[in-house]
Amino acid sequence: MARPCHNARQLPGLDLPKVQEHSLRYIWYESSAFGAFRGDAWMQQPCRSCPERGDDFGGCRCQAYLVTGDASACDPVCGRSPQRHRIDAAISDQAVAAARLQADSSAKPIVIYRNDRNSKSLQA
Ligand code: SF4
Repeated sequence: MARPCHNARQLPGLDLPKVQEHSLRYIWYESSAFGAFRGDAWMQQPCRSCPERGDDFGGCRCQAYLVTGDASACDPVCGRSPQRHRIDAAISDQAVAAARLQADSSAKPIVIYRNDRNSKSLQA
């Protein structure tokens, strides 16, 4: 399977083309999976009218999907995203945990990896 990025396997509804069945030219230019998030027609606000959309293309689709449940949402890491509070809350939680760790030398560090499960936990 060819994917637009290594994490795109988790995006729902993408019909990932098989490299055994299609040319690279077809996969890149014509497959629905690689065209799904090209241009800006798929974008929602605030991306659709944002002056940055031609530079960052609305941010990361996988991150948008995992954190908001909507692959066409504005990347929640963006300060203009209506879902930015989820990222801020996660950062705040980590700051609290780091402060606890510093205050208590017997405490063990909590490492939270950025994986599908942990990212989806921010959707709630
Ligand atoms: S992710 Fe943020 S900066 Fe990028 S286009 Fe969307 S609103 Fe603009």
